[in-house]
Amino acid sequence: MSRVLIVGAGLTGSLCACLLRRELQSQVHIVVWDKAKGSGGRMSTSRPPHASSHSADLGAQYVTATPAYAQSHHSFYSELLSAGVLQPLHCHIEGLQQKHGQENYVTPRGMSSVVKHFLSESGADLFFERHVTGLYRHGASWEVERKAGGSETFDAVILTMPVPQILQLQGDLETLISDQQRQQLDCVRYSSRFALGLFFSPEVVFGFSWGAKYFMDSPCIRYIAVESRKRSADISGLAQSLVVHTSVSFGLEHLEWDKEDVQPIILQELHRLLPHLPQPISIKCQKWRYSQVLTTVPNSPGHMTLLQAPSLICGGDAFSHSHFDGCVDSALSVIRALKASLRV
Ligand code: FAD
Repeated sequence: MSRVLIVGAGLTGSLCACLLRRELQSQVHIVVWDKAKGSGGRMSTSRPPHASSHSADLGAQYVTATPAYAQSHHSFYSELLSAGVLQPLHCHIEGLQQKHGQENYVTPRGMSSVVKHFLSESGADLFFERHVTGLYRHGASWEVERKAGGSETFDAVILTMPVPQILQLQGDLETLISDQQRQQLDCVRYSSRFALGLFFSPEVVFGFSWGAKYFMDSPCIRYIAVESRKRSADISGLAQSLVVHTSVSFGLEHLEWDKEDVQPIILQELHRLLPHLPQPISIKCQKWRYSQVLTTVPNSPGHMTLLQAPSLICGGDAFSHSHFDGCVDSALSVIRALKASLRV
């Protein structure tokens, strides 16, 4: 049985784990490591500080299926819809640019429930707060080093973190990457932005009717969502939460600032846009240094094989497109490459 390590418990990592289990059931032992305290990656759902509050999606907001992807990824959509993980978007999103034939879906339990669904289907051994810092080749296996100390050995490794974080890894990676691969990886560019989750007390009622809204004229804020309305979730007994995303230009301009210093600037603009907004009881601020991919790896089939045996394969939205379907494409491509490497 091959021991396969997937680094990253985001959407691509969870899909790789699930597809591996379904395709190679008894031939692989799947282990997933993530440096964070929980799963989701950029599809994270922030837990409320009080049990009475609604959770908040600080990263991805909804899933948009083009007619072509709705067809080619039909099995993924129908699985998530029948499991109640996805449901059609019903709320009004002001300023949403809707293209002909596109369908939007929301997640009643938050975006991280998509990732959790695929992880639970995978039966993988899942470990959080495992930050990979280096990869060392020893004959037919990889020794994978952890930041907290210690290492473990695997027969194959799949890397699904953002490309700059792959390039930071110590060990044999540097010598494995060809000049052409290095040039391709160096092309990848990400947008950056800040996100705020605002949690309110139970008696708060908002004076506006939209579920989410894009703001095109603000120099700071691009998007605000009322989480319960966006997800059409039953709010009975729960207090409201709001998600605020800054514009990419604001994110870039303040990228090296501490988030504690950026938060008051965003709040000031929020109160200019929504002057009657009550005070939240708590706020969470997130800096997305690697938000959506602006420039993907050129001519990528969806993955990059750095070594055939022992397998070392990279995947993620940088190798396809920066959305749900891009991660599905990448995971499918990674698994095809891994099966070819393992000759199964
Ligand atoms: P990630 O989610 O980044 O997962 C990588 C994981 O690797 C992370 O969990 C990270 O903790 C872990 N990791 C990194 N380095 C290490 C290490 N050294 N050791 C161990 N673990 C490590 N997509 C949509 O479809 N719809 C949207 O509405 C949408 N809006 C977005 C809004 C924002 C603000 C952001 C940030 C993204 C949005 N996206 C949206 C894009 C979508 O979230 C991403 O395309 C997708 O989540 C990428 O998944 P991934 O698994 O490839 O990468």
